[in-house]
Amino acid sequence: YDDRDGHIWMDGKMVEWRDANVHILTHALHYASSVFEGERAYNGKIFKSREHSERLKRSAEMIDFEIPYTIDEIEAAKAEVLAASGLQDAYVRAVAWRGAGPDMGVASARNPVRLAIAAWEWGAYYGDAKMQGAKLDISKWKRPSPETIPSHAKAAGLYMICTMSKHAAEAKGCSDAMMYDYRGYVAEATGANMFFVKDGEVHTPLADCFLNGITRQTVIGMLKDKGITVHERHIMPEELEGFEQCWLTGTAAEVTPVGQIGDWHFEVGALTREIATDYEKLVRS
Ligand code: PMP
Repeated sequence: YDDRDGHIWMDGKMVEWRDANVHILTHALHYASSVFEGERAYNGKIFKSREHSERLKRSAEMIDFEIPYTIDEIEAAKAEVLAASGLQDAYVRAVAWRGAGPDMGVASARNPVRLAIAAWEWGAYYGDAKMQGAKLDISKWKRPSPETIPSHAKAAGLYMICTMSKHAAEAKGCSDAMMYDYRGYVAEATGANMFFVKDGEVHTPLADCFLNGITRQTVIGMLKDKGITVHERHIMPEELEGFEQCWLTGTAAEVTPVGQIGDWHFEVGALTREIATDYEKLVRS
């Protein structure tokens, strides 16, 4: 993974893949002062590229640093990375962080802010069984309150409990974990948002303490265009039993049907399939 051919954009220039390293005293490595983006290119073009670049800048501001590149510069850098990769379909990862410098305590004002962008091949996030219906564990970790942490940032620090939740899920043979929020409402999976279907209407947790995914917003728009009612609201765990279908949305996950969450079962129904197919068409159009 690290020792391979290729190029990564780092702080304004393309460097050899295997030389794209940081120093061990990088502030972000110790204090999670890092934000990132996950993007997908289809047929040589990044889907909603500008929205991802804007979110990257916003995430950095939310955790108190400024990325020293404009949106246009970030867009140009991503295009350069994608072209250099030679890939038509690719996953693109941008990451910005507080680097190594004179400050090695909690404060880091004098250290440089850095930016890197890489692209690689990444197929279905939940593997080949994507349309069979993923099995989800229920995490013991809760999405934190916006008063505890900047919950809406795509920031490294918010993923510590996601990694722990996902590892626990995989150890039980599940693909991912559903996380409740700090109040006990259904929130999201460890790297994807959630949707439920009941009586022809769609329900999705209100994104008031977690990432309001770009895919989530896209899918809500698609549903509304079809005339389907979408309820963005707080969802109680007891309600899961009454939902007929469930799917996940995310750049990596795209639209992935869910077959099971804990002991609750869902069918991979017509609407789930339709939305998955329509999303695939949209990103390639
Ligand atoms: N929630 C979390 C925690 C995520 O990591 C992601 C993936 N970025 C999402 C939701 C979905 O966001 P998006 O649709 O913008 O990829």
